[in-house]
Amino acid sequence: MEPAGVTLPLVLGHENAGRVAAVGDLVSTVSVGDPVLVYPPYSCGLCVSCRRGRDMHCERHQFTGLTVDGGFADYVVVSERSLVRLPPDVDPVDVAPHADAGITAYHAVKRVAHLAVPGTTAVVIGVGGVGHVALQLLRELGSGAVIGVDSNAERRTLAGELGADAVLDSGGMGEAVRDLSEGNGADIVLDFVGSDQTHADGMGMLARGGTYSMVGFGGTLSVPSAAMVGGEQTAMANLVGSWIDLWELMQLHARGTLTLKTETHPLEDVNEVLARLRQGEITGRAVLVPDSS
Ligand SMILES: [Zn+2]
Repeated sequence: MEPAGVTLPLVLGHENAGRVAAVGDLVSTVSVGDPVLVYPPYSCGLCVSCRRGRDMHCERHQFTGLTVDGGFADYVVVSERSLVRLPPDVDPVDVAPHADAGITAYHAVKRVAHLAVPGTTAVVIGVGGVGHVALQLLRELGSGAVIGVDSNAERRTLAGELGADAVLDSGGMGEAVRDLSEGNGADIVLDFVGSDQTHADGMGMLARGGTYSMVGFGGTLSVPSAAMVGGEQTAMANLVGSWIDLWELMQLHARGTLTLKTETHPLEDVNEVLARLRQGEITGRAVLVPDSS
């Protein structure tokens, strides 16, 4: 099975923002014309996970653009539960990537932000579409040092511009992180790549009591339990985020302290843009804008 649950034919596009074009009779929280961001998981609001605020674990889970038609189109149909009304003066085109990239970064950082106290070191592996938001959120929600790691020079430059205390190439990153942290290693590692190599590097650079948190996936995490127990280390993983994570991220965005690195293209250029994304030629996120918006 395809890992994201995609069954063709399907309209892709899971990071969506725009203005409400029409509403059903029972819709009560938004009106035609409202600027909104679409929270991509569909959640029922009735099951135990939903009532715990973990929408992404909903028993009736659907995902816009993966299991139901998404936003590479002029219009997309969603439940009103999925909508986050944008604060005034926030343009939907500017924040569309927050719908999945931003929320995923926010969810992951919020879960470890209490560990990012003064004197600690956090490492972001992969300063791409999601990682570049996470790097800023560690700065906003935490108080420790933040190190950005990427194999791409342009992304390393971006990490520096976004406030990383240090920026490293991916080769030999474990040793370099120890050098930068007085030999202690990283208290927090957020891995936005998720390969066998980054799993090994991420666990290998952890300080005693450190937390390795996965967002990117694809490799196999293999680590001796004796080392984890001896160092009292934690490994955790993150899936998108909750509706309230996205709402909170929008409040933070409205304060103007976050930079979302984007470029815009007409929707009809979708295949060309996706090809560039696949080649690693897009720094940050590309936003597709339909003619109708
Ligand atoms: Zn539910």
